[in-house]
Amino acid sequence: MTEVTAPKASLSGSEFAGEIRSKLKYQLGVDESSAKASDVYVAVASAVRDHLSDSWMRTRAEMVQGNTKAVGYLSAEFLIGRQLSNALLNVGLDEQFALAMKELGFDQDEVIAAEAEPGLGNGGLGRLAACYVDSLASLGVPAFGYGIRYRYGIFRQEFDKAGRQVEKPDYWLTQEEPWGHVDYHRSQRVGFGGTVQEHDGAKVWEPAWSVRAVPVDYPVPGYESGRVNTLRLWESRSYDEFDLSAFNDSDYMGAVVPQVEAENITKILYPEDSTPQGKRLRLEQQYFFVAASIHDAIATFYPGQEHPDLRTFPEKICFQLNDTHPVIGIPELMRVLLDEYGYDWDTAWDITTRTFNYTCHTLLPEALEVWSAQLIGELLPRHLQIIDRIDAQFVEGLENKGLDGERIDRMRILTRDGNPQVRMAFLATVGGLHVNGVAELHSQLLRDVTLKDFSDVFPERFTNVTNGVTPRRFVRLANPRLSALISEGLGTDRWMSDLERLQGLAPLADDASFVERFAEVKRANKRDFSVFAQQRYGFEVDPGTMFDSMVKRLHEYKRQSLKILAVIAQYAAIKDGTAGDMLPRTVFFGAKAAPGYAMAKLTIRLINNVARVIDADPDVAGRLQVRFPENYNIELAEHLIPATELDEQISQAGKEASGTGNMKFALNGALTVGTLDGANVEIRERVGAENFFLFGLEVEDVDRLYAEGYDPLSYVQADPRLRKAVDMVAGGVFSEGDRDVYASLVSDWLTKDYFMTMADFTAYMDIQQEVEDAYRDQARWNRSAILNVANSGYFSSDRSIKDYLERIWHTSPSPSSI
Ligand SMILES: *Cc1c(COP(=O)(O)O)cnc(C)c1O
Repeated sequence: MTEVTAPKASLSGSEFAGEIRSKLKYQLGVDESSAKASDVYVAVASAVRDHLSDSWMRTRAEMVQGNTKAVGYLSAEFLIGRQLSNALLNVGLDEQFALAMKELGFDQDEVIAAEAEPGLGNGGLGRLAACYVDSLASLGVPAFGYGIRYRYGIFRQEFDKAGRQVEKPDYWLTQEEPWGHVDYHRSQRVGFGGTVQEHDGAKVWEPAWSVRAVPVDYPVPGYESGRVNTLRLWESRSYDEFDLSAFNDSDYMGAVVPQVEAENITKILYPEDSTPQGKRLRLEQQYFFVAASIHDAIATFYPGQEHPDLRTFPEKICFQLNDTHPVIGIPELMRVLLDEYGYDWDTAWDITTRTFNYTCHTLLPEALEVWSAQLIGELLPRHLQIIDRIDAQFVEGLENKGLDGERIDRMRILTRDGNPQVRMAFLATVGGLHVNGVAELHSQLLRDVTLKDFSDVFPERFTNVTNGVTPRRFVRLANPRLSALISEGLGTDRWMSDLERLQGLAPLADDASFVERFAEVKRANKRDFSVFAQQRYGFEVDPGTMFDSMVKRLHEYKRQSLKILAVIAQYAAIKDGTAGDMLPRTVFFGAKAAPGYAMAKLTIRLINNVARVIDADPDVAGRLQVRFPENYNIELAEHLIPATELDEQISQAGKEASGTGNMKFALNGALTVGTLDGANVEIRERVGAENFFLFGLEVEDVDRLYAEGYDPLSYVQADPRLRKAVDMVAGGVFSEGDRDVYASLVSDWLTKDYFMTMADFTAYMDIQQEVEDAYRDQARWNRSAILNVANSGYFSSDRSIKDYLERIWHTSPSPSSI
């Protein structure tokens, strides 16, 4: 008997159907018989929101009155995905929903699919923020997510006839959006530009213009916790809604200009993942949401107080900086304390440094954000003064410690050369209590390489919190079949809030009937995916082949090139009759490239054309297929991951900070082929080396090769399969004979190959042979897959949040909610 512990709303399916009916009639004004799926979606979401209201209000009141320190998770991205099925599950209305849909005669999958996916993030970093707010609410931690409500999220990706990526605007707000609640009363004013004046020795910033930050609040219902936290996403509006004087001069268009300019700030998400451009609007966005959030936190925790004692601020809330995007919050809090509340420098610095903590998400030097001091001075003149003083004080401290000048220059927050720059990662490290990396290896490399100077001076600041993913969305909702089997195997569904319980499945890996049922779950998920792919993308997928997936942003360090070169080599082997009895596979790619990233976009084009050439070749006869569905997003992840058998995590060692895709796959019973990089290291340790396909150079090998002078050509010459694959690309096999199309890609492979794809190719081909051998022994494969599931409970974002609570935030769940 399965023990069911989720608090179910005390409501029958019929009663819920009645609520939906009245929403349709009174809120949407549509007749039940003519209601479309999108109408029903809005009606159901509105009904669910009503059910959340009481808990939401109670949670807010308790947060302000309670004595538990809250967490403010500051993130420029929250890739939350569709909300309805998650809310139904967490609030305990999922069964009633199914019954109500049956009673009303609507297709529940269609209703769920009618929700537009809010694409308010690029990839892993934004998804992590979404998993963390889910876990914070589920664990009963008082918390806000603070971010930006972009009008256009990450672009929608399409492919043109030549296989190139085309970016289409993602206007996700065309239909009614029932989740966001606009709260005008909590608006904040955010200033920009202008000058700093001195009045009686006090500095006063007089901005040249200001915009209104309006919060749009999204409920974040915890699973089993009865708690509903708030994700507060700010939208920019104008104060001068309509400039009357301009209007009176009959300049109607001119009269709306300020409004249009103000609204531009939150209009669009920058589509760069890992390589930020130092654009003015981006800095405006960063300051906009962080300034609004800091003022909001003060207004929340000191309601109605004109002279709050902000020395207690760090006991009320701590801010987690999700990467460097919100780091401008450090000088902003200083400015507020100094100029608005009159604290002296030392007090303000003490409060500020006890309030912030910083999560670093990268090792790539080009991803460490740097702003020109000139730009900061133009947009935020007072902040530049404060940064200058923080830097001066920091340097003085380093001098007192006896550090040499060269090292001090390396560590400066504000460089002092001809074109001074502000290094945001350094500011974050100096202006907060803790710095964490996102996997063991990454945190180690931060200490040893990226932030070594800082780690030497402040070793106690550095710690690790390995990323995690929410099991509610990525197991329970994405993979209902596996979830039911797990609950049955464990005799409980408590694993959803205590994921280490999956350990209990390990003995079942040797139970033949369980193994067979596990295999049937995977087969059924593969069949489902084939149907979905046919309907959504119009392509055939053979569920009888092995499903091998590489889905993530397209970046050279992630090495989609390695995978496609291996596919090409395999294709060549089929053509020249040396492939033997190779295992039939379908290779899935999913990846968006930043619109300005030429090499990444060319790789997309190559993958599409390899897929096309292979498909058109009768010699291949179903042994190898490449499928590249457009627009990789959360929805596609939720469909593809449960159907995948082999997961590709093949980044160059030392470049992927953690990865979270790898965790989602392991939890859904895929085996990983991967390098010793990011969280792969920890996944392998936990699931067992014999259940993980490890290959490739390690961090030390990579460093040694760089030092020796890396020569990709020598690797190409040494492996005929690689030489052949590169020749095919260069020779126009995938560009209708045109040798120019991929020339820049080929030239990079042969002469630079910074991420050492060529050096890892042979090892990668060898490990794929091992994959084939393992897969042929289905009993062994399934046993390994079950052990992957059983041993991946550690990768729950609930565990990550507990680590943050213990190592960084030093707070605990709110007593009344646990
Ligand atoms: C999990 C996820 C990512 C992160 O994938 P990595 O493989 O860790 O880079 C990116 N995009 C989407 C839609 C995801 O769900």
